[in-house]
Amino acid sequence: MLNLYNSYTNSLREVELSKDEVKIYLCGPTVQSSPHIGHGRSSVVFDFFIRYLKYLDCNVQFVRNITDIDDKIIIKSAQQNIEFQELAKKVAAEFKDAYDSLNCLTPDIEPKATEYIDEILNYIKKILDKDMGYVSESGVYFDTAAFSDYLKLSGRKLDEVISGTRVDILDDKKAPEDFALWKFAKEGEPYWESVWGKGRPGWHIECSAMINAILGKDIDFHCGGNDLIFPHHENELAQSKAAYPDNEFVKHWLHNGMINLSGKKMSKSEGNIKILKDYIDQYGGDVLRFYFLRAQYRSPQEFSEELLIESKTTYKKISDFVIDSKPQPKNDELLSLFEECMNDDLNTPKLIGEIFTQMNNATNLENGMLDDIKATVKYIFEILGFTFKKNVTKKVSIEDTEKFFNQYEIIFDSVEQAMSEFLKIREKHRVEKNYQIADEMRTNVLEIGIKIEDGNKDGWSWNNN
Ligand SMILES: [Zn+2]
Repeated sequence: MLNLYNSYTNSLREVELSKDEVKIYLCGPTVQSSPHIGHGRSSVVFDFFIRYLKYLDCNVQFVRNITDIDDKIIIKSAQQNIEFQELAKKVAAEFKDAYDSLNCLTPDIEPKATEYIDEILNYIKKILDKDMGYVSESGVYFDTAAFSDYLKLSGRKLDEVISGTRVDILDDKKAPEDFALWKFAKEGEPYWESVWGKGRPGWHIECSAMINAILGKDIDFHCGGNDLIFPHHENELAQSKAAYPDNEFVKHWLHNGMINLSGKKMSKSEGNIKILKDYIDQYGGDVLRFYFLRAQYRSPQEFSEELLIESKTTYKKISDFVIDSKPQPKNDELLSLFEECMNDDLNTPKLIGEIFTQMNNATNLENGMLDDIKATVKYIFEILGFTFKKNVTKKVSIEDTEKFFNQYEIIFDSVEQAMSEFLKIREKHRVEKNYQIADEMRTNVLEIGIKIEDGNKDGWSWNNN
């Protein structure tokens, strides 16, 4: 049985899945600047989750939004002297590239806020009709005092929320904790027409309105980083309960932990942002995925270059182990260990430990059993979205190619000459029964985009993709 930690109840709860339809909404990016490691973590850990649900035969409906209008997008596009749409489009493309490189499943629907303005306006109207919002000088606001369960999701105290709220001189809200549903446009800002005045949607209302429009009044899982619990998800919940008081809105709130650098939270205000693409280019999507797999999704995860190098080495052990196998569910024990770990709040670090134990024990097994373990390990990793492809996004330079062959004391002249020498060295290791070194060479050469094909009576061949 699948057990997951629900941020609303603050407890591990058994999940009842109706396999016919599992509705998932994941808060996507505000497309104002390039994706960082934290965005990578959120997309990959929930990708593990969605892939696991699919493995359990669930018919998943997965929606992830794009916030393409927001104060920061307006400010940044003005600084860059471009239209806000242009910045949003450019950054959204960067996110798409990153998701693809990390092999994250494409959502069934990926709505943009600006495409749902009518739905957002109708939703605000519904809240005002219920007397849970008001119009003031600067915009339309949610009246938090009218919602008795406010702060139940985050568990925050009202006075800490108030003291954490920036008080603006122009603030014309009834209470500091009230939040904007619709912001009236200032001079020169983009706007849409509304009965209350020209403006743009607040951040929180877009998710409530798009969830409602696309997935309906109730969903199974609402996911996002735990930095979204307050205020974003708290406010989404308030809006949705205001508009539809008889509905639960979300069955399970799932939140992933943050990325830390030397114990400090990675954030723009700390000035320690790590750009995702830099690491994808250097290590490839699989290694990044494996790094994320090493921490349980709710825990904070430390990030450093050393940890990525370590992930690369460990992942290579797995990919070496399964290199010649076809992914198949052959070993029942290993499969039930897989399910046990995933059912335990997606305990992926435990899963890695179990897999390594099996891999280590397997060295003593006879060939048939060993092959079954290999096939099953590969099967599990493919379920979790690993491709076992080398870093295909990276173009290999001549310098890198030379450097690669130099490690084997081969002077590079052409790929043909260097590979012929490389295969000779490898064959020597095979003859001397140094199979581990030979296997490693076969994996290593994938780094420069060369795949060694199975040996046959004509000898070993290779191809260069
Ligand atoms: Zn959201």
